[in-house]
Amino acid sequence: MQKEVKLFNTLSRTVETFRPIHEGAVSMYACGPTVYSFAHIGNLRTYIFEDLLKRVLLKAGYAVNHVMNVTDVGHLESDADEGEDKMEVAARKEQKSPWEVAKFFEKAFFKDCAELNILPPSIVCRATEHIEDMISFVKKLEDKGLAYTIDGNVYYDTSKFPAYADFGMLDLESMQEHARVEQDTRKKNSQDFVLWFSQSKYPNQIMKWESPWGVGFPGWHIECSAMAARYLGEHFDIHCGGIDHIPVHHTNEIAQSEGCFGHKWVNYWLHGEFLILDKGKMSKSKGGTLTIETLKENGFEPMHFRYLCLNAHYRGQLKFSYESLTGAKNAYETLNHKLADWKTEPASPLTTEDSSLLKKYSEEFWNALADDLNAPMGLSVMWTGLRDEKMSTAAKLAFFDEVNDVLGIVKSEKEQSLPPELAELIKAREAARKEKNWKLADELRAKLSDSGILIKDRENGTDWFWKK
Ligand code: AMP
Ligand code: ZN
Repeated sequence: MQKEVKLFNTLSRTVETFRPIHEGAVSMYACGPTVYSFAHIGNLRTYIFEDLLKRVLLKAGYAVNHVMNVTDVGHLESDADEGEDKMEVAARKEQKSPWEVAKFFEKAFFKDCAELNILPPSIVCRATEHIEDMISFVKKLEDKGLAYTIDGNVYYDTSKFPAYADFGMLDLESMQEHARVEQDTRKKNSQDFVLWFSQSKYPNQIMKWESPWGVGFPGWHIECSAMAARYLGEHFDIHCGGIDHIPVHHTNEIAQSEGCFGHKWVNYWLHGEFLILDKGKMSKSKGGTLTIETLKENGFEPMHFRYLCLNAHYRGQLKFSYESLTGAKNAYETLNHKLADWKTEPASPLTTEDSSLLKKYSEEFWNALADDLNAPMGLSVMWTGLRDEKMSTAAKLAFFDEVNDVLGIVKSEKEQSLPPELAELIKAREAARKEKNWKLADELRAKLSDSGILIKDRENGTDWFWKK
């Protein structure tokens, strides 16, 4: 039996009790990074929020199937189909192929995630490896009369999906009035969006594929609909991302998927608010961004940033400053010093008072997290518990383990001891196993063994140990 969790659902704009489609299991899709540059700390705030969501569901007793895409083609400079493919712009700037750029930044992204103690997704899928899925999705939309082709570009006809404005609570009339003049004049309605580009304004696009509509590349929105359908089916539990995705990307994903399947697609939509800088919005494409490397250069560890993010509710904006990051760093270090001290004390059995305090604080902590992921409240309960002089050290350590399962604010000694290169090898081996590439998986196992790591495959993933 799973514990109750309440979540704010963007669909209803209310906090609802989570009920899964299949008992005991959660299917969850998170829009992944566009890999044309390093992730900025705003992006990473969103992935920390999604990690918190996943850990809360795991702690509630669900098995979580977490799918994340990697956008390595089709995301134009503006989310509304204008400008050039971000991958191509980056490739020209870096004088590399878009494939090399994608590979490099994907690796950097997962390194950031590992340093932030973000649990890896169950499945990572790349847009460029699912072009066939996208083509057949677009064909279905055409067959249903929801798409039209002009000059080789296939567009979604939003006028054929009456609920189009609902999810984003959009005022289409006023949007139509304010539509930009330079907008693509092939569109029948200003909200229509491209499913497949074969008539690009940029004929030198390198990433392109054959399709029934001509050689070209997919639109950004179709990739999420097609890959979510491939891995999670036509109806699943949770879809999440940053708040900026509500009016365009997720609105378009819903129009495509519900238009194609003819029924409700996702039950719960969760959106994380933005991290902003004192100066305002942070944007990867316009520069002025902070990355994990920038924080490190300024004397901070990635885990200080995780603490900072968890100390703010995911539905509120987080104004980033080095002063607040310093506060998070101090709290993180105080916590670690206390834990280190306590661990040197000889273990003692819990008294009756310990057990009842442990139960009380664990329940208070869980109630905060189960109420729409109230991590700041959870942290406050954590500090009250850890400072309670009536609780023994052993009880405090046991309480902290409960907290840390959900917040992941301190890496285990085992995790801390793992150099990033070996963490990468473990991940690569897991990916090889999932793809049933046994030869590569065995080679990587042997390499890890040479570095002192023993691999144990379990039903729900791979575990590793230092060899004695
Ligand atoms: P992108 O790599 O641009 O596709 O964005 C990756 C994720 O970061 C998406 O879920 C966005 O909604 C999210 N995101 C973008 N900017 C911010 C920000 N400043 N704060 C929080 N999340 C953001
Ligand atoms: Zn998406």
